[in-house]
Amino acid sequence: MNVVALSGGVGGARFVRGLVDVAGPASVTVVGNVGDDLEVLGMHVSPDLDSILYALAGLNDEQRGWGRADETWNALATVADLGGESWFRLGDRDLGLHLVRTQALRAGTPLSAVTGRIAATLGVGALLLPATDDRLRTWIATPAGEFTFQEWFVARGHLDDVDGLRFEGAEAAAPAPGVIAAIDGADLLLVAPSNPYVSIAPIVAVPAIREALERRRVPSVAVSPLIGGRAVKGPADRMLARLAGGTSPRHVAGCYSGLIDAIVVDEADADDVGGLGDVRPIVTRTLMSGPAARRRLAEAALGVVPA
Ligand code: GDP
Ligand code: CA
Repeated sequence: MNVVALSGGVGGARFVRGLVDVAGPASVTVVGNVGDDLEVLGMHVSPDLDSILYALAGLNDEQRGWGRADETWNALATVADLGGESWFRLGDRDLGLHLVRTQALRAGTPLSAVTGRIAATLGVGALLLPATDDRLRTWIATPAGEFTFQEWFVARGHLDDVDGLRFEGAEAAAPAPGVIAAIDGADLLLVAPSNPYVSIAPIVAVPAIREALERRRVPSVAVSPLIGGRAVKGPADRMLARLAGGTSPRHVAGCYSGLIDAIVVDEADADDVGGLGDVRPIVTRTLMSGPAARRRLAEAALGVVPA
């Protein structure tokens, strides 16, 4: 079975790890968000791709939820001591990856090729593709002005309300090599429990990706990132309340209009599945508290297709 999952960083990475554990790495292609990418201290950082890489390689820090386990922060401490740019938290082990990626990009290697090389070296068997090799950047409009994604999320602690989003470069972006073939060849399409606005929307803002999803002939299933109408972590619930008018399953599903056939929602939301229209609810426990829980969630999503 071929499965394609669209994914952001932390929530997506947890889910994708469960998916790979259940379906096997050879069955899984992950299309990762690059709208959060940034240049910091002269390096190209792809936070969502790296969260997925670290999770699939078993190198991630489960407690912190992002970055690598056994991390130290000496380089960043030196940067801060020297009055350098230290708002974006980069650990020492993490930095090594950014250095290698940045050098390869400067030499003209596409992001997808660098990512593939790093994934293979880390022993990741699933195929991890950035949505695009082209420059795509998420901008957040707030009452205090417009910010790049990381300025809003990290530097300002995502405290500003979101009035709108813009995906710079998306309209002209081409899908990374392999993305469309993976979608067209999939037996099942999945949307990870990621933030619909800032993790999934930038992926489907690439016109050819959206078109490939819209013309699918196989089921497409999203997993809701909300439990009881609340985000497990981060601003997804606040964004849905403000931009979609609510945090029920129908509001999440509304973000994926025309792109999904079913939505996996938590038992805590089971009484609130009205208004989904053609989208079928699948109710299960969706908190990925550990390896067994994330495998169960993957099984619920995979259950749409008979083995
Ligand atoms: P980011 O790129 O690091 O912000 O990560 P994602 O967009 O992939 O994931 C963020 C979303 O994951 C948040 O909206 C969380 O509510 C959701 N999330 C995190 N852990 C869980 C979980 O265990 N279950 C579910 N259903 N959602 C989760
Ligand atoms: Ca992200």
